[in-house]
Amino acid sequence: MARIVQKFGGTSVRDIAHIRRVAERVAAEARAGNEVAVVVSAMAGETNRLVDLCTEISPLHDTREYDSIVAAGEQVSSGLLALALQQLGVTARSWLGWQIPVLTDEMHGKARITSIDATELRQRMTAGEVPVIAGFQGLACGGPSRHGRIATLGRGGSDTSAVAMAAALQADRCDIYTDVDGVYTADPRIVRRARKLQAITYEEMLEMASLGAKVLQTRSVEMAMKHRVRLQVLSSFADVPGTLIVDEDEKVEQEVVSGITYSRDEAKVTLIGVPDRPGIAATIFGPLADAGINVDMIVQNVSEDGRTTDMTFTVPHSDLARATDALTALSETIGYARLVPDENVVKISVIGMGMRSHAGVAQRMFKALAENAINIQVISTSEIKISVLVAEQYTELAVRTLHSAYGLDHL
Ligand code: ASP
Ligand code: MG
Repeated sequence: MARIVQKFGGTSVRDIAHIRRVAERVAAEARAGNEVAVVVSAMAGETNRLVDLCTEISPLHDTREYDSIVAAGEQVSSGLLALALQQLGVTARSWLGWQIPVLTDEMHGKARITSIDATELRQRMTAGEVPVIAGFQGLACGGPSRHGRIATLGRGGSDTSAVAMAAALQADRCDIYTDVDGVYTADPRIVRRARKLQAITYEEMLEMASLGAKVLQTRSVEMAMKHRVRLQVLSSFADVPGTLIVDEDEKVEQEVVSGITYSRDEAKVTLIGVPDRPGIAATIFGPLADAGINVDMIVQNVSEDGRTTDMTFTVPHSDLARATDALTALSETIGYARLVPDENVVKISVIGMGMRSHAGVAQRMFKALAENAINIQVISTSEIKISVLVAEQYTELAVRTLHSAYGLDHL
């Protein structure tokens, strides 16, 4: 007997027929003698619809009300799934974040879970009940709890709900059911010969998730890694093995490179003619950090004359306007000559634990791109990844080229 958390994404609960199929899956796991807790997302498209309603009424809305509105999707799907389970003779009930409670900080719209009290759930699970938990939501509890407000965990946050529940319940496994059947060496829509990975390490998955692979919310992987939750990504539509996310020593096949990702969510900013003096980076990046803008890749060119230089960096696409506003307001203080924004860029990354012990991995990337006349604009590296920024039009070509260059193609 095992204790399992099963999480079902929006496409898996998109209508009543699908909810019934999910219920069958849950019931099968429970009938096999396991203790099961379920975490659900809102029905496909529902969160977007609710977000759009908020934006329509007020583009700059109060984020506490936003949370109260967008959390509603999961209230519906958890209730429906509980009903479907009851119809199959399974004892089940729905749980909202505040009822458990799942407590969070007060960063509405992207709150972080601070604690979960799973005592009651655990008792009921032992007694054979299946809790169906609304993902994506918690209770922001700054003061006395009756003043607590509903908080959401950021888009894709029900993955994090599931992992956090698995940690709190000390579950043996957390199965994330989604519309893809695992983690691939590259986006299969771009690379036809992409392979499904049997296993991937937490570290690699973390890089993959934050570098563009959209299978899991990045925070969920962080949390799984921290609490050593055994995670599995698998399809709710096909009965095939998924991808296990494991500790390094559990991974059998150890390629140098495990995957290639791309992210179009990047924008490049170049400041031309920046005075080359101590403190200039702090003057530029301090205000961006204060505005909550995450700067990712940075290059500063050498100055030929020792007086001025160019500074290039990337920010999330959605923050470009705010970044250029902030920097324009500071043009006197910084003293740059010109600001050049560029939205037509993509970040391509090569990820693999093996990089730590193999030389020449970066060189292979640069060579393969050069052979295809793809110009590299910015480079950044960490222990287990290399990222380059290239013109967006080369996305497909770059990903395919690198997938072959590292021998990842399916034979
Ligand atoms: N329903 C929420 C969203 O679409 C949470 C989730 O699906 O993970 O972002
Ligand atoms: Mg998701």
